[in-house]
Amino acid sequence: MDANYGRINGLRRQLLIVDDDPISRAILGNLIGDAYDIAYAENGREALNWLERASRTVSLVLLDLMMPVMDGVETLKRMKESETLRQIPVIVLTSEGDAEAETLRGGATDFITKPYKEEIVRARIARTIELVEDRQIIQTVETDRLTGLYSKDFFFEYASAMVEAHPGIVMDALVLDLDHFHLYNEMRGRAAGDQLLCALGDAIRQELSGTIGIGCRCQADTFFVYIEHTDAHASILERITARVTEAVNGMARVRMGVCTRTDITSDLEGRFDRAKSACNRIRGDYLHALAYYDDSQYEQDIHAQRLINETKEALRSGQFKVYYQPKYDITGSRPTLMSAEALVRWQHPEFGIVSPGLFIPLFEDNGMIRALDSYVWKTAARQVAEWRKRYGRVIPVSVNVSRIDLFDESLLERLNNIREANELPPEALILEITESAYTEDTEQAIAVIASLRAAGYRIEMDDFGSGYSSLNMLLHMPVDALKIDGAFMRAISVREKDKWLIATLVDIARHLNVPTVFEGVEEEQQVSMIREAGGQIVQGYYFSRPLPPEPFEQIIEKDIKEAEQC
Ligand code: C2E
Ligand code: CA
Ligand code: CA
Repeated sequence: MDANYGRINGLRRQLLIVDDDPISRAILGNLIGDAYDIAYAENGREALNWLERASRTVSLVLLDLMMPVMDGVETLKRMKESETLRQIPVIVLTSEGDAEAETLRGGATDFITKPYKEEIVRARIARTIELVEDRQIIQTVETDRLTGLYSKDFFFEYASAMVEAHPGIVMDALVLDLDHFHLYNEMRGRAAGDQLLCALGDAIRQELSGTIGIGCRCQADTFFVYIEHTDAHASILERITARVTEAVNGMARVRMGVCTRTDITSDLEGRFDRAKSACNRIRGDYLHALAYYDDSQYEQDIHAQRLINETKEALRSGQFKVYYQPKYDITGSRPTLMSAEALVRWQHPEFGIVSPGLFIPLFEDNGMIRALDSYVWKTAARQVAEWRKRYGRVIPVSVNVSRIDLFDESLLERLNNIREANELPPEALILEITESAYTEDTEQAIAVIASLRAAGYRIEMDDFGSGYSSLNMLLHMPVDALKIDGAFMRAISVREKDKWLIATLVDIARHLNVPTVFEGVEEEQQVSMIREAGGQIVQGYYFSRPLPPEPFEQIIEKDIKEAEQC
């Protein structure tokens, strides 16, 4: 027998054996008494009393299930409810194999079946103690400093170990996310943001307490939770939200995406990807805070994956086409062609025309957007140059600049190179930057945009009204035009209050000393309302859909003809 068996760092560990049967107690005590200091208790109540005193020195409890006074299940439950006893590992002694799942659920670390086999008993005890002690040592490394939950790497390690050790237990993958966390951070400051994250961490920990579930903070405001399968996800979310709301005084909305174990087609990380994809689906959706990953989403993801795989080839073989949609100045006696917006389409050999609404978000996620944007800018610049040659005038084209481009240090250089290659002045390329890029990374965005403007580019703040710029922020934002989000046009009719809404939007722009561009304008009445309110520029199906270059040329020619007639 190894003299060090049972000792770690030379210390003898102290164990508590809880069993009402004296023979059983003695057998177990004899099996391991050479290696450990052993204390005995006859039932749960006695054990708890002893543990209260020895909680700091005891390394492990060996717990029988069937006992008078207080049985093992109840003892385990009370231990898990106690702040001081919760951490002590418990190995359950059982003669019924099927008590396994129930005791694990109750918080037992492992179990040993009677009659005892010496090798197994020794191995399990040693392993459990080592695991728990190792775990305490690395606890500081493996947990997220802010919330005390696991870090992502350790989370997956433990979750996989759990799956392997207990293949019979059905688990669900949950992803939780805070709506508008960046905004909260920005408005209330980083300390308040941290507090909110801690509140969510605490709420999750409370939910997991006494279960076999584990949780981690995956990144920023995204949390992963792995719990035993349940149908009560809605109530879990309700409880977590209530705790967070109470902790931070009512400003938080938690979303939850769920991938249940019925989905066995992917590995552990894949299942969390799916739960996350369900969670993303309801971002900003105020009617739904809970979403399940389902078949239709599976199809969508497969489709998305195919698009991602084929992107490079599509760029090489020219499958991306740039369409142009005219913008008209409506302040004069007739609408005049001012500029055009370049909008990309994917002419896919199998799927036909794929809308950018589908692939742009994918490319923003995987970084391909940079290459695509460059391609669109190049194509648009070449087009402007060609039209200048043909019609003797520069028709400026606005291009979309994604928020990822704003983090690219070579952005200005990329734009300048493209422009210079086509001998265009900076006014020929207008840059559309979505409002949320301003609000999410205000400082960075303002610095980059200021440098673009200093180089002569004009900036339109795209989708204005969909983000959350406060008036105060707006006053400090470098912009040359506000492009009002198309959602306003979809929402309005010709009622008085809608007129007032348009007038307000125009008024904001007037305060900033910039014109407004209204997009998504489909009806004549909308054009009149915008004109009456003092809006200047209109883009939308009312004038034209986005068109390939050749049909767009008819629009240019019509505008030239009308100008000559005036
Ligand atoms: P966006 O920049 O807000 O573009 C306006 C969208 O509204 C376009 O959708 C346009 O076709 C559509 N639209 C224009 N007039 C009307 C109308 O009267 N009624 C309605 N219902 N819709 C109208 P599209 O082309 O599907 O583009 C969707 C979004 O994809 C764009 O929104 C933009 O954010 C993004 N996008 C398009 N091309 C590019 C690109 O080259 N680069 C980047 N980064 N994003 C792009
Ligand atoms: Ca745009
Ligand atoms: Ca827009």
